[in-house]
Amino acid sequence: MSGPQFPLPQNEPEVSFRPGSEAAAELSRALGQRDVVEIPAVIGGKRYFSNDVVEVRAPHDTQRLLARIHRPTEAQIKEAIASNKSVAKDWANLTHASRATILHRAADIIATRKRMTITAATMLGQSKTVDQAEPDAACELIDFLRFNAYNAQRVHAEQPMSVPTAVNRTDWRPLEGFVYAVSPFNFTAIGGNLTTAPAIMGNTVLWKPSEKSALANWIFFEALEEAGLPPGVINFVPGDAELTTRVALSSPDLAGIHFTGSSAVFQSLWKNVASRVDAFRTIPRLVGETGGKDFVLAHPSANASEVAIALIRGAFEYQGQKCSAASRAYIPRSLWGAVSQEMRERLATLKIGDVANHDTFMGAVISQASHQKLSRVLAAAKDDSAVKFVSGGRTWSEPGYFVEPTVLEVSDPKHSLMQEELFGPVLTVFVYEDNAWNETLELIDSTSQYALTGSIFCTDRFALHHAEKVLVNAAGNLYLNDKPTGAMIGQQPFGGGRASGTNDKAGSHLNLQRWASPRVVKETYLPPREWTFGA
Ligand code: NAD
Repeated sequence: MSGPQFPLPQNEPEVSFRPGSEAAAELSRALGQRDVVEIPAVIGGKRYFSNDVVEVRAPHDTQRLLARIHRPTEAQIKEAIASNKSVAKDWANLTHASRATILHRAADIIATRKRMTITAATMLGQSKTVDQAEPDAACELIDFLRFNAYNAQRVHAEQPMSVPTAVNRTDWRPLEGFVYAVSPFNFTAIGGNLTTAPAIMGNTVLWKPSEKSALANWIFFEALEEAGLPPGVINFVPGDAELTTRVALSSPDLAGIHFTGSSAVFQSLWKNVASRVDAFRTIPRLVGETGGKDFVLAHPSANASEVAIALIRGAFEYQGQKCSAASRAYIPRSLWGAVSQEMRERLATLKIGDVANHDTFMGAVISQASHQKLSRVLAAAKDDSAVKFVSGGRTWSEPGYFVEPTVLEVSDPKHSLMQEELFGPVLTVFVYEDNAWNETLELIDSTSQYALTGSIFCTDRFALHHAEKVLVNAAGNLYLNDKPTGAMIGQQPFGGGRASGTNDKAGSHLNLQRWASPRVVKETYLPPREWTFGA
């Protein structure tokens, strides 16, 4: 690929919001902003407002109205697909450098003048503390933009060999059609990746954000516009999920789906596409990163305090609403007394409440539906003789959807609490006998349908090595002596196998390759003029 070379980016550093700092004051002003944001659909650069409106409220303060989403009609979603198509050729024909410059400009806009706005929107709309919001809505989003621009360059650089008689090259063509990007609520950054990864490879994108993160996603979309993204390259369609999906999947131009969210929804998309695969111009690429039931395993050689802290941070940061959150733990009997005591003591001091307060550790869960589900699960656990409450268990719904960080101990290692993703602050522990290390490894591997993240705490090098081998397929991202959350772009490309998704490693060149349909061109210098082999 000719043109300028973009250097390997550095991860965007976090800003410190120490009380009294200028950054803290600026953030506090952004959080205090009371205007209700009207979020339109944007199709071919035009804003569409409608009467079909969904309100966005702060999950930790449900009285506080933040935004109104104007959902597009079926005709408008079709118009968005047509608009994608109308700009597709021009976008595909731009140089990589032009597209990369737009992503870099957007990254710089987020890093500077929109940093506080998007961080505050993520705190309010998704109930994240600043310690969770800034690394997501600012740092990771910026990293996705800069690393996608850089990694696309690596993809283009991958070329076949040539020989003395002919030259070969690969054109990294975009797919023939649009990519449908469907993003989840829990990371603002993911919406930025699901859209710009296909776009940097020259594709056009129909973006359906989650209603629950639409405010922060909208701010990002405005940053893309400000950065000079041509109208129609990414259309912002915050519509009803089923309607938008029905329209997108009935278009013959659907060339790919870039999804992050629950396994059930991704599987339904896959089945839908498969059932009418002959109706598309090209076989759609399906990339989905989905649920997890992520494990923490401690070996008897582990340090109890390190395990307890990893469990608290891994299970309860952002109320356990990370796909990578620790939600099942396997602790040896010899360590459990110390681990459980330290967890109980520390959790007793952990603050839950308004995410704007500097010392709050946990905000609310995302929605009433999630709150009701978690309340039901905890009520059932109280009546279950196979479950012991180690800590927590309360839920309350004023002024928002709060769930206490809860640690449960089960006597049955195959209990549903060890298998199902709950997506809330609930950690279930199975205490194994110290001499049952090998059986425990098998148990971890066979208990859940998911295989996203996992972590092993162990200071015995042989045992650690053995565990890593036995658990080879149990996680797409494995952490040794660390919590299972907090993957960094460029450092731990993210994704899992089994029911956790297609494992295309968000933020890496592997993901970008899925958005290209390479054409290989051979040109011979002197074509033969005789047909016989001996000539
Ligand atoms: P979700 O599946 O409810 O929603 C994800 C997206 O799909 C949203 O935009 C939603 O509107 C849309 N959607 C919902 N129902 C749909 C339908 N029937 N048809 C089409 N689209 C539909 O997930 P969520 O609650 O937003 O996010 C939480 C889930 O995402 C968890 O399962 C979590 O593990 C997973 N997740 C995975 C990763 C990863 O990288 N593996 C990252 C973040 C979140």
